[in-house]
Amino acid sequence: MEFIELTEGAARLYVPRAEVPTRRLPAFYNPAMRVNRDIAVAIARVHGQRRPLLVCEPLCGAGARAVRYALEAGARVVAADVNPQAVEIARHNAQLNKVSNRVYVEHSDARLLLHRYAFRNERFSIVDVDPFGSPVPFLDAAVCATLAEGILAATATDTAALFGTYPTKCVKKYAAKSIRAPFSKEIGLRILLAAVAWAACRHDCGIEPLCAYTERHYARVYVRILPRPGAVTRTSKNIGRLMLCSSCGYFSPLRGIIGPQPSTCPHCGKALSVAGPLWIGPYGDPRFCAEAVKQAPSAEAVKLLKSVLEEAATPLGGYHTHHLAAKLGKPPPSSRQVVKLLRERGFIATVAHYDPRVVKTDASFEEVVALLSSL
Ligand SMILES: [Zn+2]
Repeated sequence: MEFIELTEGAARLYVPRAEVPTRRLPAFYNPAMRVNRDIAVAIARVHGQRRPLLVCEPLCGAGARAVRYALEAGARVVAADVNPQAVEIARHNAQLNKVSNRVYVEHSDARLLLHRYAFRNERFSIVDVDPFGSPVPFLDAAVCATLAEGILAATATDTAALFGTYPTKCVKKYAAKSIRAPFSKEIGLRILLAAVAWAACRHDCGIEPLCAYTERHYARVYVRILPRPGAVTRTSKNIGRLMLCSSCGYFSPLRGIIGPQPSTCPHCGKALSVAGPLWIGPYGDPRFCAEAVKQAPSAEAVKLLKSVLEEAATPLGGYHTHHLAAKLGKPPPSSRQVVKLLRERGFIATVAHYDPRVVKTDASFEEVVALLSSL
């Protein structure tokens, strides 16, 4: 295997050369995840403003993220990988960047590492679970190893399951139904948030989503862990279902995961589909995201964080302007124009970060249809 040296953020990294990153690499490194790591740095900088940063990265691969947490956010980092070659490469990368006194790399299974630190009552201010595939197998251990008010970050790369291409896989992994919809990506992101929320509730903790987004081939969530009974109750109330009409585009959230649900669309009378359980509350904290924007180390990270910041005030779901316009016999409108007109009418509106054709707004289905009909 050939290795190369490259720059990412402030770090020099020694990584395997690969056209397509796979699990079989001696140390996993995916250059396409740079923006993911840029945002991780921004969020760690915000979280570190008021407390010392001790970060755990239990699936560290080549150590790019661990080194960047130390180098760019001033964190002390406990990193681990089950692959001994990856451990050697991550240690080498820590030395290369002169942070080996702050990046401690262990050869360990991720869950064992997290439970070991939790058992010793040495919890982390940030636990970052960044697996190849779903983070679900690691969430319970990650919650246990996160300090009160600390941040749990999780990446999911099994987007075909979450975004409705393979709904059966989603049921198996997340105990939730994903669905093909105009805003499938948001539904998948909310299913992932619900999985993190369940894991927290199982350990008598609530969550508060700080930032959640999807980019390229992955979904990513950051939540604050709150070990308080009130927070657990609030969290469980934010897990519900989504009803969606594939015929006319109407949708509505439904509180709770059990109980009666309408079977026909109130707008067109066709059958409704149901997705979830999923997170039905906001998926961003505007104040936290605004701070993260100031700390972001790249233009791409700033752009994504600003989008999540704007979406934080909008309710669940979005309107696919091209699909709706086609049903009304109209040419596809500009999403920016639709947003402008909705704002002029006093609504909150923004273009969704996950699809430039989707508009998120607090306007009702009927109000959006009326606006598109008038164009
Ligand atoms: Zn309908």
